[in-house]
Amino acid sequence: VPSPGEALKVTPMMEQYLEIKAANPGALLFYRMGDFYELFFGDAEIASRALGIVLTKRGKHQGDDIPMCGVPVVRAEEYLHRLIALGHRVAVCEQQEDPAEAKKRGGKSVVKRGVIRLVTPGTITEEGLLEPARANLFMTVARARVSDSEARFGLAFLDISTGLFGIGECDRQGLAAEIARIDPREIVVAEALYEDEGLAHLWRESRAAVTPVGRDVFDGASAERRLAAFYGVATVDGFGSFSRAELAAAAAAVAYVERTQIGARPALEPPRRDAALSHMAIDAATRANLELTRTLGGERAGSVLDAIDRTVTAGGGRLIAAWLSSPLTDPATIARRHDAVGWFCDDLAARTELRSRLKAAPDMARALARLTLDRGGPRDLAAMQAGLEVVAALQARLAREAALPALLIEAAEALARPDSGIAAGLAAALDDELPLMKRDGGFVRAGCDADLDETRALRDESRRVIASLQARYAEESGVRQLKVKHNNVLGYFVEVPQAAGEAFLKAPLRETYVHRQTMAGAMRFSTAELSDLESRIASAADRALAKELAIFDALAARVLADQAAIRAATEALALLDVVSALATLADEENHVRPLVDASLAFAVEGGRHPVVERALKREGKPFVANDCDLSGSDAGHIWLLTGPNMAGKSTFLRQNALIAVLAQMGAFVPARRAHIGAVDCLFSRVGAADDLARGRSTFMVEMVETAAILNQAGPRALVILDEIGRGTATFDGLSIAWAAIENLSAVNRCRSLFATHYHELTQLAKTLPRLANATMRVTEWQGDVVFLHEVAPGAADRSYGIQVAKLAGMPAPVVERARKILAELESADRTKTPARLIDDLPLFAVAPRPAPAAPRRDEVAEALDGLDPDDMTPRQALEALFELKARR
Ligand code: ADP
Repeated sequence: VPSPGEALKVTPMMEQYLEIKAANPGALLFYRMGDFYELFFGDAEIASRALGIVLTKRGKHQGDDIPMCGVPVVRAEEYLHRLIALGHRVAVCEQQEDPAEAKKRGGKSVVKRGVIRLVTPGTITEEGLLEPARANLFMTVARARVSDSEARFGLAFLDISTGLFGIGECDRQGLAAEIARIDPREIVVAEALYEDEGLAHLWRESRAAVTPVGRDVFDGASAERRLAAFYGVATVDGFGSFSRAELAAAAAAVAYVERTQIGARPALEPPRRDAALSHMAIDAATRANLELTRTLGGERAGSVLDAIDRTVTAGGGRLIAAWLSSPLTDPATIARRHDAVGWFCDDLAARTELRSRLKAAPDMARALARLTLDRGGPRDLAAMQAGLEVVAALQARLAREAALPALLIEAAEALARPDSGIAAGLAAALDDELPLMKRDGGFVRAGCDADLDETRALRDESRRVIASLQARYAEESGVRQLKVKHNNVLGYFVEVPQAAGEAFLKAPLRETYVHRQTMAGAMRFSTAELSDLESRIASAADRALAKELAIFDALAARVLADQAAIRAATEALALLDVVSALATLADEENHVRPLVDASLAFAVEGGRHPVVERALKREGKPFVANDCDLSGSDAGHIWLLTGPNMAGKSTFLRQNALIAVLAQMGAFVPARRAHIGAVDCLFSRVGAADDLARGRSTFMVEMVETAAILNQAGPRALVILDEIGRGTATFDGLSIAWAAIENLSAVNRCRSLFATHYHELTQLAKTLPRLANATMRVTEWQGDVVFLHEVAPGAADRSYGIQVAKLAGMPAPVVERARKILAELESADRTKTPARLIDDLPLFAVAPRPAPAAPRRDEVAEALDGLDPDDMTPRQALEALFELKARR
């Protein structure tokens, strides 16, 4: 049993560990000890559980066992991957001197160690940790108060794995939409923002890991200076003019880079905010509902991105996702993209050739980023070589074209920028088979460096050299039994039978052979040649590796010297991939070039839904194309779409929103013809997924989203509303829907599509001049409903709800009973005819209720008594409240 004094004594190593651990709060500490990274205490418990590795103990700390587990250095990447995927952050602590050095300093000295890198979800660069077609962004959010009640938010987003660095600004309301658009893996915010209750749901709902940091990181006063220092410039004015909030976010982003990358400095582009690239605002709910880059279930498969992506490179995959997430609004910029896509549509031969070459292009952007961080390996150099070869081939191909559109001319210019000698230099130096790590050696091609070849020859051919020496010595001495041998004491030596050995002790052999040992029956000698060979062989392996590392560094330096040009060429490759992929898509799926201009047109002929069409095609079913015309000269038109469930209303609504998104991202669209006045804001209220996580009922979510739309949609907006008011009692729902349409028509004045099952609303067309009725056509056949999926002018005559219920497999007696009830209801009460309603309703009024029977007070009280608030979901409570109100 250790004495208390002993138990509390902290070993020097533990002292070092605890100090480093304290300096890196919130991160698991990978503490390097020889061939392992060890984790201690709570870290060990977390890691052993997360990674399924054995938890052991090592020594004691303050009388208790210290839990420990270890990860072999050679497999560290794999373990890091799993920890990062689980949302952990890892501080990697290395030995920073040779353990022999520490020994020299005396018994108690510990090897010097330091954290060389903080690995977080948003700052990884390793190939094995990254998804190829997804940008790996982290984002910073800085708040700048404008007044007591108002704040602006500066946003910066950075992809260390490619160098991309964007900044922007928004208000409180736009923040969720920006986070959804940027879709970061990690969000870095000041602690105050992290703890702000009004913002907490944003962090909770984002799919990112959220990292709170100290206020100093976001310090606005020093932001400009810190940013300038990072880029080594006197002033950041050259990058553009940025707001206070933007500067704070940008400075925080570089501070976070420094904090996580420690010594290494990634090559970041200067922060970029391009006014010409202003994008269509799409709020988070709309983005999710339209399933742009992932489905509501979170999958990529089944999303719009999945349906339209024909890219063949990783960079192209990331760029098309970025384009889809941020459709443009400037017609001229959009037209430039359409021109480029159109060029590839027209020239099939060029497209085919170019795309087959693109397929050979590796992920240059990420390889380059690893090289700048000094984390690159031989395969990253090989990626640069292969990539630059593709760049040169594409440049040569495009140079042959006479009439390129502007975007492709720019791309061709960017492709011409990198130094053409680099690829050749790499090709000459790199072997065909490459190890992952440069420290493994063996990646430099034979014949590339004479010195290296010789050292390698010495190492590899030592046997042969010794065999030839042995033959020579035997011949010179005339002793045929002479052998060259090796042991640890003598190194290489010559051994001869004792009888022959005597001659070696005398001149002239004595000059060459130095006596070392006499054994029973044998004598051993060394020679100058052998000891020389000995030391040369011993150091040959080391020297070969050192030489290879020097060659690696020289090659990497050559690449990095040209990195700006290489990055531009890499971006051009991604662009060529995306526009040629969009052309391929247009050909394969029969998409046409849309006309996007500054008008308020929205005229789609024969429009289709890209995802639904694809799904139907797999089942061998045709998709019915439909027109949509919301064009107006001074204000947009509204289509009120009625039709039974399952008739295709949601599909029609979404397809028109998607056609606008596709047109403005620069793609061709699934339609026969499309003319779209650039949409600046896209809003949707579709679907009815309960937001249980937030304790909000479907109805509440619907109202919140509808409120946001009615408050924000301007004249250039496109609004898609599906089944507003469905989640509540009929009259409430009808009146809310009614008032919403009136608001859209009179206040928002924007292009809108409104699907509803309230047939009463079709009467509004009589009073609202820009409202038109449309309906999904259905017919009946032998008592069953048949959906034609065809949009026609006019209103649906009935809802076919019972037929749909029958289709869904409702038991026959229930269906029959429902038919009878319906017939009775329809013949009974005729006071609520649509005509009566419309006459009673002035603009902006709420539908009057049928004259209520005066409630007896105790009726409400009785109903209240029957409620148990503890036992109700928020939704039930809300419904009960509506019901109570209705009784009053
Ligand atoms: P609603 O919103 O009216 O209930 P949906 O839009 O969800 O109907 O459509 C129901 C189903 O009908 C879709 O899943 C799809 O299979 C089919 N559908 C919808 N629109 C079309 C169309 N234009 N052509 C062919 N099938 C369609």
